[in-house]
Amino acid sequence: MTPYTNLQEIASGISNCTSCKLSATRSKTVPGSGDSQAQIMFVGEAPGSNEDKSGHPFVGRAGNLLDQLLNSIGLDRDKVFITNMVKCRPPNNRDPQNDEIESCSSYLDSQIEALSPKVIVTLGRFSFGKFFPGETITQSRGIVRKWNNINILPMYHPAAALYNPSLRPRLEKDFEKLLELINPPKNVAQYPTDESGIVKERQLGLFD
Ligand code: URA
Repeated sequence: MTPYTNLQEIASGISNCTSCKLSATRSKTVPGSGDSQAQIMFVGEAPGSNEDKSGHPFVGRAGNLLDQLLNSIGLDRDKVFITNMVKCRPPNNRDPQNDEIESCSSYLDSQIEALSPKVIVTLGRFSFGKFFPGETITQSRGIVRKWNNINILPMYHPAAALYNPSLRPRLEKDFEKLLELINPPKNVAQYPTDESGIVKERQLGLFD
């Protein structure tokens, strides 16, 4: 059972956390930010140096790309909630280690419970591995799966597309999938149409 009832309390718990060695080298904790009522949660990997200075997730180059991708489907970061697997920066931007992920995992679990999102978008292999351990992101990206009754949509990490621009179209396609998930296309066969064939009712989306 989580000791927290809301995202603010969780952030405050994180700000005092010394459970792993990352607490010794961090400047600021990066609990996550966005809309506390959001239906879409993004889970990245770990804060980098810009995030460590600002206390906010995805504020560097990868964050700019994430903003562009959100904008491409008519969203912005104020309408979603963005967080990471670990809430403190690993030194020199190394990968988070298993013990760090393990000691931070109860915060993410509490955030998921408090937000109760309809969709979790995993960005990169670390967050994908939390929900579907042992599987590869290359085969699973862009495919919606259920986990504890929540839709999980795995995607490449935006930093991967900065490093390897050929991945960017796949990320763009996966954001289109996200748009479809939150706002499914009209199903003409299933819904009544008027004389001109216009659908009178549209299929309910996650936000209806
Ligand atoms: N910034 C973050 O906050 N998380 C990442 O995974 C990468 C950059």
